[in-house]
Amino acid sequence: MHYRFDLHMHSCLSPCADLGNSPAALAKAAKAAGLNGVMLSDHNSSRNSQAFATACQREGIDALFGIEITTAEEFHVLAVFDTLTQAEQMTEMITATLPKRINQPLIFGDQFVVTADDEIEEQEWHLLSAPTSLTIQEIEQRVHGLNGLLIACHINRPCFSVFSQLGGLSGDEGFDAVELSRQARKIDWMPKILGLPILRSSDAHNLAMIGQIWNEAELEAFTVQHLRKALKENRVLNP
Ligand SMILES: [Zn+2]
Ligand SMILES: [Zn+2]
Repeated sequence: MHYRFDLHMHSCLSPCADLGNSPAALAKAAKAAGLNGVMLSDHNSSRNSQAFATACQREGIDALFGIEITTAEEFHVLAVFDTLTQAEQMTEMITATLPKRINQPLIFGDQFVVTADDEIEEQEWHLLSAPTSLTIQEIEQRVHGLNGLLIACHINRPCFSVFSQLGGLSGDEGFDAVELSRQARKIDWMPKILGLPILRSSDAHNLAMIGQIWNEAELEAFTVQHLRKALKENRVLNP
């Protein structure tokens, strides 16, 4: 099946995302933008992922289960999983290693856990924008141990990227791919990414950003296994 997909978008659980970015609204926007494969990747938590998967099912599009993790080195990585259970296991480890700081919504923004019908269930109290105490090596072991994919987020950005924090890639991080934002030119980054495949992501914090950039691939199914294979074989295409 031909997939047009985006693995990086934020719901109202992420302190920096618009309140209008409910899982249901994101799924609708993705469908309207012509995407048929999506993943929610909130900061350091997968607590809205079940609602998102339900909403995607209603729209007839496929969903994976993701988290955007802040490493101890203070850069962002995406963990990509097939199931909610895997994402929840990762979230458990993240939650245990976040500083015990309480989110202050007026300063950092709301962190709403919601249902697929836009009902607010609770305000997450952990400060999700804080870094975990997990190093990139610890995260790599856990993500791959759970059979997930590990992606270096927005490597072109001047903050919270492996390039901004560590100066570049060593090759030992275990990344399955690197992610470039819409604004970045692939040609500028090709020499610096050690031959890793490139993914493009909207990193949408509001609905208007959905569908502005995407990836395409012929996949048997929208699963980690098939995505990993397509990445390895350089069959993931993007603008
Ligand atoms: Zn990020
Ligand atoms: Zn993000």
